Amino acid sequence: MLAANTLKEKPVLRLAIPSPLRRIFDYWPPAGSNSNDWEALTPGMRLLVPFGKRRVVGVLLEIETSSEIDQRKIRCAISVLDEKPLFSNALMQVFLWAARYYQHPPGDVFSAILPPRLRRIPTATGFGTKLWEVVNQPPIVPLSNRAHRQQALLQLLLERGPLSQTNIEAAGFNPALLKQLETSGHISKRIMPVPNSNSEQAKEHRETGAAAEPNENQQKAISALANALGQFGCFLLDGVTGSGKTEVYLQVIERVIANGSQALVLVPEIGLTPQTISRFRERFNCELAILHSGLNETERYNNWYKAYKGEAAIVIGTRSAIFTPLKNPGLIVVDEEHDLSFKQQEGFRYSARDLAIVRGREENVPVILGSATPALESLHNALSGKFVHLVLPERAGAAEKPIIRLEDISCSELLNGFSVRLTALLQSTLESGNQALVFINRRGFAPALYCCDCGWVFECNRCDVQLTVHRNPPLLRCHHCELQLAIPRSCSQCGSKKLATRGMGTEKTELFLQQRFTGFPVIRMDRDSTRRKDSLQAILRQVESGKPCILVGTQMLAKGHHFPNVTLVAVLDADAGLFSPDFRGQEQMVQLLFQVAGRAGRASRPGEVIIQTRHPAHPILQSLIRQDYHATAGLLLEDRRSASMPPFSHLALYRAEAGDIRLPAEFLQEIRNMLEQSGKNRSGSARTVVSGPVPAPMERKAGRYRMQLLLQAGNRTSLQSLLAAVTPEIEQLKLAKKVRWSVDVDPLDLI
Ligand code: ADP
Ligand code: ZN
Ligand code: ZN
Repeated sequence: MLAANTLKEKPVLRLAIPSPLRRIFDYWPPAGSNSNDWEALTPGMRLLVPFGKRRVVGVLLEIETSSEIDQRKIRCAISVLDEKPLFSNALMQVFLWAARYYQHPPGDVFSAILPPRLRRIPTATGFGTKLWEVVNQPPIVPLSNRAHRQQALLQLLLERGPLSQTNIEAAGFNPALLKQLETSGHISKRIMPVPNSNSEQAKEHRETGAAAEPNENQQKAISALANALGQFGCFLLDGVTGSGKTEVYLQVIERVIANGSQALVLVPEIGLTPQTISRFRERFNCELAILHSGLNETERYNNWYKAYKGEAAIVIGTRSAIFTPLKNPGLIVVDEEHDLSFKQQEGFRYSARDLAIVRGREENVPVILGSATPALESLHNALSGKFVHLVLPERAGAAEKPIIRLEDISCSELLNGFSVRLTALLQSTLESGNQALVFINRRGFAPALYCCDCGWVFECNRCDVQLTVHRNPPLLRCHHCELQLAIPRSCSQCGSKKLATRGMGTEKTELFLQQRFTGFPVIRMDRDSTRRKDSLQAILRQVESGKPCILVGTQMLAKGHHFPNVTLVAVLDADAGLFSPDFRGQEQMVQLLFQVAGRAGRASRPGEVIIQTRHPAHPILQSLIRQDYHATAGLLLEDRRSASMPPFSHLALYRAEAGDIRLPAEFLQEIRNMLEQSGKNRSGSARTVVSGPVPAPMERKAGRYRMQLLLQAGNRTSLQSLLAAVTPEIEQLKLAKKVRWSVDVDPLDLI
């Protein structure tokens, strides 16, 4: 037999193992396997392996002929868990790139990538329907001729295909036989996806909604994207709210599906609403796979499997859906690409938007980033020609742009945060049968409780913040840790009973509006009022009924919902965002204001937006009323350029925290020394500026002291090589075990 590539030598398997170490681990193939088995091994398969005293599921990354480790120390894998790799070579490259770029342990990266069910050690107990089937690999141990019952069972499975244990027992076989056949490598168990009822319905003949006739700008975008299918390209679909971006995605996806390919659509956490899903369902008569954090393990696995098998033509999901394998990748869409939820803020701190681009390149598919308020980074990339810039400047259909007005409140008397004029406008909006939306970026009743006699303000004893007063239920709560206290009756400093709240939160605003506008429903929408399952849906239904009402809420209101009957949008206080200490603070405020403004007058009724401010002459607010996001973003980009902040530099942040105030500082100082040492040995590389260690803006959180070390580089490659040289070394530091530390590449904020 000619088999030039046959692996005659026993290969070394290099695996990602769930562990906090930034390295991969070597194993031999399972004992008793032969060169045919080795041939079948492909990166992207899972193996069950011994790890210390435990057994763990690892993912095969590389197959090598030799190891740097003493051969006698290498252990054998226990078994191969997959017949085929779970991920294509291209996708494996994306994952390995992510582990390197974000300086994260590869084993932990794969833990984030695999659906929980595929992460666990296969056991007899679990969910879903388990089916036994004959493996089509040569068995590990041949079956003895005398094992008659085992042979009969094997025959049954060969003839009738995968069977459940119940069916096998019903055919008169003892379940112990299954175990024996499994151990000797003749049969294996697999979990069949349980078809969910929705997808069954989807297969029935449904009436599908018609596509709108694209306007000229939409048509340009659709043609550009349709021509780009089958190859990599990155497109910024930059269109004002209601300009028909979703319509563009739908028409491009239609072509993707017609080619037999799949589309992956990422949406912000809060954007994956029934409204979004039904828009896709209404348009396409095809299978959808939906992936978000609210799914149970079975649902998650089933949807993942439909994507992997190519059964779902469209995969819609939140951040982690970027890791879903697609059998026939055709297109990646990141909707509301500026949304912060695309960046994971703990553990494996990846940006799903940035990974979408890396993935598009590896898989040779176009990537669409869509937003009415693109992130400054994306806009910069579009303006500099790195991305193709597709602009939809007008609202689609009949909807008109809202009118935006600034309400100068620097000299006016406010009643519970509302100017007299704004209150009158709310009144007339309700009386003429329309809906209003009141935006206040603070949940709870009031942001502070203080003593009228001595001025004492109640603070969290574990964090450096004031406690928020909540009314329903009545509690003082810390928004940064779990602390909750009963509302005190007297001042803890002077004993005075004269306590009062300061400032406004959503609850207090709600109460005021209820008392002021009796007879009209006031609906609150924030993290507290939507905590219970389905409560958000109930709120949306009430608004959709179209009856006059006031909706009060936090930034949740600004995210992707369609409120066609809202004609007045009020922003109670724009100033906090204008003077934010964080480098992205203004950008986020501007995006939020444009998004909030976009909620008004989406249908045929024109809208009005009132922004209360004490700084009406501020250039950002002035450019906001001209409703030109590009001009406003241009101002912000200039600021970033002069401060050498992203996108004009690249950042990484080492964070450390501990109960003992000295440890994080000492630890980060050691890192700083290592960085400087490593930097010195590099000749000619662009300079990386290291600042710190400095206390984090909120120095104490949940009882721990927090410090940080900032790296700022003009050149991404030199920053990367510095991080790669130093980060694995950090694990070896003694202090690394005494502090909680992390590295954040491209951090969203420096807090
Ligand atoms: P975006 O995603 O940019 O907010 P949508 O795609 O949701 O915009 O479109 C906003 C509204 O305009 C929707 O009700 C949509 O059905 C409608 N629409 C989109 N494109 C057109 C068009 N070409 N003609 C008429 N109506 C359109
Ligand atoms: Zn007091
Ligand atoms: Zn706290």
